[in-house]
Amino acid sequence: MAGGQGALMSYDENNVFAKIIRGELPCHKVYEDDKTFAFMDIMPRAHGHTLVIPKDQASDIFDVSPQTLFDTVGTVQRIAPAIRDAMEADGILIQQFNGTAAGQTVFHVHFHIIPRFEGVTLKPHAGDMGDPDVLAVNAEKIRAAIDAA
Ligand code: 5GP
Repeated sequence: MAGGQGALMSYDENNVFAKIIRGELPCHKVYEDDKTFAFMDIMPRAHGHTLVIPKDQASDIFDVSPQTLFDTVGTVQRIAPAIRDAMEADGILIQQFNGTAAGQTVFHVHFHIIPRFEGVTLKPHAGDMGDPDVLAVNAEKIRAAIDAA
């Protein structure tokens, strides 16, 4: 449904998330099914910051089919408790940005799952690169929690 009516940006098949889905760029994957894919955000705003994307091509929430959106939110709902448990978080922030003015930087529709901890301030959106070793450890903890759920 790329470039569908209402999309804020036309879909670029070479955006970084499209490359991650195709295996052309590495990522710390935590979950995958036939419709959706979840992996660690490379610039985490908090420990355990995870992204959930559909495998279908869609640039933003206005470009995605209702069924694909349903599948993607279903994955968010399914894995967020495992992320919360794995990170021992006090709360979970779900974020979704559409358009540059709203803060979107990658134009393949996605949901952020961000663990929140009492008294810990969020880091800036798309700020500093995370430590690869920490990302790997957190991804392993999250995968284990998803598998155990
Ligand atoms: P947006 O600003 O579009 O809502 O979020 C895009 C997110 O993707 C940002 O939080 C950013 O840190 C993350 N990101 C950007 N490039 C990459 C990448 O190559 N790999 C991963 N894992 N995350 C990325």
